[in-house]
Amino acid sequence: MPPMQAHENKNISRRRSPRFDLIAGNVCLDFVNTLDDRHTKPKELLEHYSDLVRFGEDSGLLEPKQLSRLIKLSSCALDRAEQALHRARELRESIHDVFWALVNKRPAPAEALATLNRDIQLAAEHLRLVPAGGHFVWRFDDLSDLNTLLWQIARSAADLLASEQLPFVRACSSKECEWFFLDTSKNHHRRWCDMKRCGNRAKVRRFYAKKKKSS
Ligand SMILES: [Zn+2]
Repeated sequence: MPPMQAHENKNISRRRSPRFDLIAGNVCLDFVNTLDDRHTKPKELLEHYSDLVRFGEDSGLLEPKQLSRLIKLSSCALDRAEQALHRARELRESIHDVFWALVNKRPAPAEALATLNRDIQLAAEHLRLVPAGGHFVWRFDDLSDLNTLLWQIARSAADLLASEQLPFVRACSSKECEWFFLDTSKNHHRRWCDMKRCGNRAKVRRFYAKKKKSS
């Protein structure tokens, strides 16, 4: 199956500035980064279902008309929304574990891969070919389902894992951070998730360490 155009909605007009730092260059990696500082002081950025919707908005996975629909639906079906959030976090951790193993040159853990495969299969059940001006595109059928983001993210992870870009998935060199990103730089030597977020902090630390040594 050819990769879906997962970022078709990227150019939607934004109503507000993004809340999530989407630095990864790939939506499933950005999604993994929603558990911030996971190896040191984990901070959950997806506390409520509305945070998940916000991620969908920031990343362009959700169309504007879906946002209010999902928020409304989740407020009328709190249990189902909570369950969808739980499953989304479970998917996120399985994507993390698979990529973390690959980044560290280890085989993907079977349990994480099984969870990911389960969600990929679920996503595939909702995938349809839709005519679009003389050609066809992949679309998910029910855009108001509370799990729609789960399907899209599972699909994005599947596409990346089966793509030639896989060797360029990296974790940030800052041990506190270790956010994932796709290194699309020319020489593939990118070390930091973001120069402002981690690169400069490391530079400042090196500068003071050097100064201390020479004084
Ligand atoms: Zn970083």
